[in-house]
Amino acid sequence: MADGGSTGRADGTDGADGADKRDPASGGDGAIHRGHQALFIGGKWVPAAGDGTIEVVDPATEQVIGSVPAGTALDVDTAVRAARAALPGWAATPPADRAAVLAAARDLLAARREEVAATVSAELGAPPAFAAAVHADLPTAVLASYAEMAASHPFEERVGNSRVLQEPVGVVGAITPWNYPLHQIVAKVAPALAAGCTVVLKPAEDTPLVAQLFADVLAAAGLPAGVFNLVTGLGPVAGQALAEHPGVDLVSFTGSTAVGRQIGATAGAAVKRVALELGGKSANVILPGADLARAVNVGLANVFANSGQTCSAWTRMLVDAERYDEAVAIAAAATAKYVPGDRLGPVVNAKQRDRVRGYIRRGQEEGARVVAGGPDAPEGMESGYYVRPTVFADVQPDMAIAQEEIFGPVVVMIRYQDEEDALRIANGTVYGLAGAVWGADEESAVAFARRMDTGQVDINGGRFNPLAPFGGYKQSGVGRELGAHGLAEYLQTKSLQF
Ligand code: NDP
Repeated sequence: MADGGSTGRADGTDGADGADKRDPASGGDGAIHRGHQALFIGGKWVPAAGDGTIEVVDPATEQVIGSVPAGTALDVDTAVRAARAALPGWAATPPADRAAVLAAARDLLAARREEVAATVSAELGAPPAFAAAVHADLPTAVLASYAEMAASHPFEERVGNSRVLQEPVGVVGAITPWNYPLHQIVAKVAPALAAGCTVVLKPAEDTPLVAQLFADVLAAAGLPAGVFNLVTGLGPVAGQALAEHPGVDLVSFTGSTAVGRQIGATAGAAVKRVALELGGKSANVILPGADLARAVNVGLANVFANSGQTCSAWTRMLVDAERYDEAVAIAAAATAKYVPGDRLGPVVNAKQRDRVRGYIRRGQEEGARVVAGGPDAPEGMESGYYVRPTVFADVQPDMAIAQEEIFGPVVVMIRYQDEEDALRIANGTVYGLAGAVWGADEESAVAFARRMDTGQVDINGGRFNPLAPFGGYKQSGVGRELGAHGLAEYLQTKSLQF
């Protein structure tokens, strides 16, 4: 395999500091990865240009559990140069060889499942079972899908007298959030590498530890030096420098709409490719005749998973006027089972906790009725950024709690009169990321889903599919992640005529 003209194969062990696998930072079987004091650039763990550090806090205990360097614009520049140097070699590497590296990474990540789960559990606060089943297993599944796709994707096709080539876009700047820290990374890095792109990643400052662990995995999988680079740091410093860097050909961002808008404007000014996966305020539409108890219970589980910090969460529950009171009673009773600290983890940090509680107060001020939860700290929780799982009834569609992304365990229940009213409410936000429809039969639910302005809809409790395109209509974003559509984001086409 070509090594991209860089400094040789990355092995993750010959760096300047903190990278030795015997380093306690590297963790062991099921131990928490506590952070390399280095950035991963050009196939090595190297010191950052400055001496700033970011402390990583366990949201459940409020204790510092590790730290990483706060990279600067200088570090980003070094990383982009490494990625550019590695690009010709990796782009020319046969897809089957790229697939082999991804498959090796998948195996290595799967072997470190306990460590991944423990690390995400510690830095995000996710309950251990959820951390293992989702935060560890989902990225492994996505890596596996791109290992297969790299090997089987038709990177060339004949169209009449033309040969159409799909070529890598180039150097990718990936900026990721904290809510699904490894999944969001893998959803960008795996297709980028499968396509033949090279990458500089700036992960969220709250959850950088699992990103470092992933860098070790890629290095151990035999990824050539410089193909993947990791600069931990602050958004307005390292993130902005990456988004603005002229050596980056595509910026792929997941996070808030506010930052996404800024990144889109920067990319537009430079005429460079951009993919934005932004917020959501998805509707869970329960049609007359649907199984009400199931739809309400699954709907609550969908929102309360990951403490409500899921961009695609069905945070607006729409119920017909006739069964509305019954649905509210089911939701209020079911919410009592989500005990903070047990089934429900904390939110990621104090700012997020205050923001979510602020929205709950705002809902009360707007005249909505709290039927479960509320803005106060959960009883008996002395520490940790916990929020009470909260359900609002008597919510009007134009209230702030029904329009804005809260990103916490808060469900708003809205009454509709008929299907046209339900559709108007479902489509009545600036967002369009996901949604759910429950009907008496699949056909009626699908008919409704076709009319929703949103990128993904689950029908009668359909399961998450890591091969299905994921992304937003309207202000929920630009572009798609996962599956073949996710791979296409990292490819550009050239046609040769004969
Ligand atoms: P941000 O959009 O600020 O963070 C996402 C990523 O962007 C992080 O890596 C962040 O770095 C980085 N970033 C921040 N500012 C810049 C910048 N100017 N230029 C480049 N990169 C930047 O989200 P927050 O963490 O502040 O969360 C706020 C709200 O955003 C949430 O309450 C939620 O509503 C929404 N959100 C949506 C997500 C989704 O999946 N759609 C995910 C996360 C948040 P750093 O970590 O240092 O801030």
